[in-house]
Amino acid sequence: EHTAPQNLDAAQAKAELTRLADLIGRYNTAYYTHDAPEVSDAEYDALRKRYDALVALYPEAEPAESPAHAVGATPDSAFGKHRHLVPMLSLDNVFDQTEFEAFINRAVRFLGLSDTQTQELAFVAEPKIDGLSISLTYEHGKFVRGTTRGDGTEGEDVTANLLTFKDLPQTLNGPAPELIEIRGEVFLSKEHFLALNAAQEAIGRKPFANPRNAAAGSLRQLDARVTARRPLSLFAYAVGFCSDKLPSSHSAYLEQLKAWGFPVNPLSRTLEAASGAEAFFEEVARARAGLSYDIDGVVYKINDLTLQERLGFAGRAPRWAVAWKFPAEQAITTLKSIEIQV
Ligand code: NAD
Repeated sequence: EHTAPQNLDAAQAKAELTRLADLIGRYNTAYYTHDAPEVSDAEYDALRKRYDALVALYPEAEPAESPAHAVGATPDSAFGKHRHLVPMLSLDNVFDQTEFEAFINRAVRFLGLSDTQTQELAFVAEPKIDGLSISLTYEHGKFVRGTTRGDGTEGEDVTANLLTFKDLPQTLNGPAPELIEIRGEVFLSKEHFLALNAAQEAIGRKPFANPRNAAAGSLRQLDARVTARRPLSLFAYAVGFCSDKLPSSHSAYLEQLKAWGFPVNPLSRTLEAASGAEAFFEEVARARAGLSYDIDGVVYKINDLTLQERLGFAGRAPRWAVAWKFPAEQAITTLKSIEIQV
């Protein structure tokens, strides 16, 4: 039940919001720090909705520093910590065309675009990979560090684990900037996810709730030899920080990532206007079951990097991108079984 009670006094509203905030904090830790959610995503999302509805009714009763506004969770102290040069944030969600249009309208209003400029506003649409985001630092073209998102400001140093990846370029091809942070997603294919869970269960361990938790649990290992046995994959999809001038568009940047040697999702597509978003969403939805990895929606990013910069961030998400999510349901397609050693 997501509706917020309208008849609470200030003390009751405060008590209820504090209770919900504590629960959200606890579920965040289970999910992001231990890769073992205590509740389903649907239950978690409903809890957040209830929290947001209560805050809308009783804004003054919201606890200070609420975990509801946080990105991820505090980095696990078992890992070295590293501060991102540019914060790693979350994404706002939309679930239909109307909500998507509201996202466009907000961005257009913020930028003060004319009708013609709005019609010509280009996007890059990318499948939203169900994995965990990673920041990859290269100095003079050499891979020096890999960091999880953590709480968005500081992440966990998982360099040794990433060095076990076949897909990760240790050296960038061609000219490279002095310092660059590249962002991407680490994920497990559907078949490896199923195989890993079968192996976990065979030795009496709890299976992972979804490919994302499995990928996170496999990367965030203190012994990199365990990560080495997990066939993790990677797609690069964004720039965090760059000491040199960047290409002027996200699409050109994706080409640059490819040229440097990164795997970039071949389904990513430049859309000349927002009007193409729904058709692309449906196309990806149809392709979804046949993909070797799990996706939970499509991410739309304004292509012009200058506009992205002008739009910036609001709270825990950028104003220039949005995740159009599939409705929550669908089990993973059954695939041929393969062997994996935990
Ligand atoms: P999110 O996963 O919905 O979106 C942000 C992330 O999308 C980015 O950090 C990045 O890792 C990823 N991404 C994948 N492909 C991308 C692409 N092409 N471009 C850019 N980013 C891409 O947001 P979130 O805040 O990280 O997590 C929220 C989700 O986690 C919700 O679905 C929620 O249900 C779930 N959650 C569940 C629990 C639980 O207890 N069950 C707890 C916390 C969070």
